[in-house]
Amino acid sequence: MGHGIARLTLVAACLLTLCGFTGQPVANTREYYESRGEIVWEVPTDEKLIALTFDDGPDATTTLQILDLLAKYDAKATFFVVGRRAERFPEVVKREALEGHEIANHTYSHMYFNRKVSASAIAGELEKTSNTLTELTGRKCRWFRPPGGFYNDTVVQVAKEQGYTLILWSWHQDTRDWISPGVGKIVRKVLNNARNGDIVLLHDHVGGANQTVAALGQILPELRNRGYRMVTVSELLLHKRSQPVKLYPRNDRTGDRPGDRSGGGR
Ligand SMILES: [Zn+2]
Repeated sequence: MGHGIARLTLVAACLLTLCGFTGQPVANTREYYESRGEIVWEVPTDEKLIALTFDDGPDATTTLQILDLLAKYDAKATFFVVGRRAERFPEVVKREALEGHEIANHTYSHMYFNRKVSASAIAGELEKTSNTLTELTGRKCRWFRPPGGFYNDTVVQVAKEQGYTLILWSWHQDTRDWISPGVGKIVRKVLNNARNGDIVLLHDHVGGANQTVAALGQILPELRNRGYRMVTVSELLLHKRSQPVKLYPRNDRTGDRPGDRSGGGR
């Protein structure tokens, strides 16, 4: 019996090797990275704040339309820009910064880290973009979103060494606007799920980004009607709820209970 299992394990290991599964980057759970403050998916807050984020730009047309809409509804957003596109459209990036939005790093060439990529290649992607953005905006933003949301220990580590924290998005706010699902679907995804501290994933430069623009024209007024304020990721993080305070009744005789302060963790 034990022998059979050993042989099965061996066969499985060989198959995995043949399929190229060895040497894959290591990634831990959401809880692991979240508790260490290395990756942010959303921000627990009691305030009616939402962070809209736009990836893959700048785009000479749609980004400008998005900026117009954001201005119209007094909303601030975070743009995760691709370095080589920022070099191509520097004026768009400058306008984003000038209008109070946040400009964050989304690699230089939109490289996916879902396979083994060397630490130096990741560092290069980050650094090149960082230099361009700092030059254009006059400041360094600490936020980095890996393309496709692919991350692993190496990505997190290299980002950290360059002073970056990874910002992903609320799992219930992945609009999938990049597949052009239809304006109504993008709108419903955001509005039906909206809650305090959400980080919404949208794109300002993909095929069908005009759907994103049209959707935004409906999303912004409705979120405002509901009392939400659209803020940058930095601003949202300023309003992060601290660990929940554990309250005891005043006449609680157990008194102070050391060792019972684990809190919520989120
Ligand atoms: Zn992207």
